Amino acid sequence: MKRRDFIKKSTIVTSVAGLSAFSLGCRRAEDEKNINVNRGKVVKLKLATSWPAHFPIMGTGVDNFADRCREISGGTLDITVYPKNILVPALEVFDTTSNAQIDAFHSGIYYWKGKNSAFSIFGGMPLGLTSEEMITWMKFGGGLELWREMYAKFNLYPLIGGTTGPQMGGWFKKEINSLEDLKGLKMRIPGLGGEVMKRLGVNPILLPAGEIYTSLERGTIDATEWVGPALDSMMGFAKVAPYYYTGWHEPGSILEITMNLTKWNTLSKEHQAIIQCATDEMTSNMLQEFRYKNALALQELPSSVQIKTFPDDMMKKAKEVLQDVLEEESSKNSDFKRALDSYNNFYVLNKKYDDISTKNFLEIRS
Ligand code: CA
Repeated sequence: MKRRDFIKKSTIVTSVAGLSAFSLGCRRAEDEKNINVNRGKVVKLKLATSWPAHFPIMGTGVDNFADRCREISGGTLDITVYPKNILVPALEVFDTTSNAQIDAFHSGIYYWKGKNSAFSIFGGMPLGLTSEEMITWMKFGGGLELWREMYAKFNLYPLIGGTTGPQMGGWFKKEINSLEDLKGLKMRIPGLGGEVMKRLGVNPILLPAGEIYTSLERGTIDATEWVGPALDSMMGFAKVAPYYYTGWHEPGSILEITMNLTKWNTLSKEHQAIIQCATDEMTSNMLQEFRYKNALALQELPSSVQIKTFPDDMMKKAKEVLQDVLEEESSKNSDFKRALDSYNNFYVLNKKYDDISTKNFLEIRS
């Protein structure tokens, strides 16, 4: 190398090094600002849920979440969990967090579709994405940004707070052999699935958990959905409705840990990061716990239970009427349309790959 070139090169290297040192210094200052650790001060938060105390999987999941926040923060993030109706009625947790009477809640997103119908898309769609796919859409496909933007109007900051995995189609007193058999049937089924069932001739009924079994036993309702074998078997439905149908209406329902937005913004970056990590852990644990416990509970169902799959004509019609419901809602609510467009973009992208990977493999494996 000629001397002149060497000098030229070294100058560049030196100036690049100088520049990096400068930018590193800036970055460090910026990091200091961003790290914003909690300096040992204990922050206490009140979190209300929509479940009874220590309710299996969902309730114990949120108990563990609070424990993990305490552990990881060295005791400085102290979240007290209030089961349903202790501090706040089960379905008022959204409003009380929104108006800052409490700091956070753990619940199901589909409960709030009356606030904005778009929320039902973030909660999971009949015949749509599975739990794992929903989380992928939210984290990488734009779903979370839209959800946060729409919740910000209620001064709320949502995080994914667990998911159920695929839910079963429900317990029926009589066998369903055709679309015709659904006509006039009274079924406990909420959300978009309930809306689809309504258009298939069912009379969808909303009942609190405590009243479902008695209503089914007395014939006030003919069928009910709940979750899956693990939680359903605790409700005793098998004794009064022996036909247990496979699922379609809740393939991947998402639960939420939602914070009051003003409160969230007052937390240190450290505490925000701990809450983010603990909700991620909770989501993954809950999905695995549901999978394992559903598999165990399925094995232990009474032999009188008959596992059935809904007839083809019913599922074909369900797909058609679901499209009608989505189109109608999109024309009424621009938020719904934006959320649905984002969801559909991911659905198409994912399906192409999933068909040649997971779906193909599961077919080979079976
Ligand atoms: Ca359900």
